[in-house]
Amino acid sequence: MTPLFDRLDALPPVSAEERQLLESVEALCRDEIAPRAAAYDRSGDFPWDNIRAINALGLNAMFVPEAYGGAGLGYAAYLACVREISAACASTGIIWATNFHATKPLIDFGTEQQKQRLLPRVAEGAIGALCITEPEAGSDATGMTTRFTPEGDDIVVSGGKTFISNGDVADLYLVFGKWFEIDDPRGAISALYIEKGTPGLQVLRKEDKLGHRAASTAALAFTDCRVRRDNLLGAPGDGLALLLAALNKSRPSVAAHALGIARAAFGDAVAYINQRRQSGRRIVEFQGIQFLLADLATDLAMCEAWLWHVAALIDAGVADIGIEASMLKLRASDLAMRIATEAVQLHGGYGYIKEYRVERLLRDAKITQIWEGTNQIHRQLIGRSFISRD
Ligand SMILES: Cc1cc2nc3c(=O)[nH]c(=O)nc-3n(C[C@H](O)[C@H](O)[C@H](O)COP(=O)(O)OP(=O)(O)OC[C@H]3O[C@@H](n4cnc5c(N)ncnc54)[C@H](O)[C@@H]3O)c2cc1C
Repeated sequence: MTPLFDRLDALPPVSAEERQLLESVEALCRDEIAPRAAAYDRSGDFPWDNIRAINALGLNAMFVPEAYGGAGLGYAAYLACVREISAACASTGIIWATNFHATKPLIDFGTEQQKQRLLPRVAEGAIGALCITEPEAGSDATGMTTRFTPEGDDIVVSGGKTFISNGDVADLYLVFGKWFEIDDPRGAISALYIEKGTPGLQVLRKEDKLGHRAASTAALAFTDCRVRRDNLLGAPGDGLALLLAALNKSRPSVAAHALGIARAAFGDAVAYINQRRQSGRRIVEFQGIQFLLADLATDLAMCEAWLWHVAALIDAGVADIGIEASMLKLRASDLAMRIATEAVQLHGGYGYIKEYRVERLLRDAKITQIWEGTNQIHRQLIGRSFISRD
């Protein structure tokens, strides 16, 4: 068979140390995480043993700088790990990636004191949650109504968030809300960290979902929830800029997650049609099927190459990568859904049966088109970037 995927896997620009870590992650995924994925999908239990195994490898530490107890490895290596873990178990992949999404703004914008206090805990395996969405503020996050009211040395948080990944298990919540004293609805957006166990932080419910059944998604309420003022990230009103910077790092990450699902579905489909026979031939020998494979493999290869392009931009410190990140998230998630759908089709009736992994991959793929900005919103962001300003 073609060495296409071996060569693509050699693309991520990673150091020898990062390559070694990737090999350990591959072994963990093959030996432990993938074999447990179907059972976790069935039970809907949080995959604590996967998270413990990930922490035993020190994976949270890879994105935390050395000065705060981490290893300070590169973004491309991080994305390669997200993709690998997500191919084995999409639920575990998004749980771990969410730790990064909630922590990266602290690494990039936190004060020295905040980093010294919070980052060593993350490096040791603390779970993070990124809290933006509210029941009435989804695609338009600027409509959020969670309120931050300063009171002496404290900030009182009131309101609620919905659909929060890791929301019921997190140690550290990055919460976006509006600063009480600022009138401008966009200019009021601010961000702060709430630590687990803070009085007034309540988990209202866990959602029952189509896919990602082992990754918890929770609704939260903040009722006079009081945090120290030094938990504020940046200054009051810095929230929108922080949010956009955070999304530039989390969108490539959810794209890597979607590409993990796409790779798994493509691999399963190819393996199946190489063995399944009808009309005296293997399914893969029908030309109509080969045309489909050609289209899927070509799009997958192009999208993976774009993933490493965006990763290299981020590792080089380029900040204004919003459009590249939107293109990546859009294409990777549409492709994950398309490949997972075709993989079920190529399995015929067996694809619809839970015994075959493609059934789960199809359910797991759908959300990738919805979260981190729906794909309609990404099309809008990309399209309007071409409007001339003069
Ligand atoms: C499993 C899961 C995990 C999640 N994890 C998190 C998390 O960890 N943190 C977090 O903050 N959020 C999280 N979310 C929320 C997710 O990001 C939102 O669901 C998403 O942004 C869409 O918001 P909405 O659901 O309110 O849909 P709406 O904004 O109400 O959109 C409904 C439909 O209208 C379309 N639409 C809306 N506006 C426009 C427009 N201007 N032009 C064209 N079409 C439009 C949308 O694309 C969509 O198809 C999660 C959601 C789920 C289901």
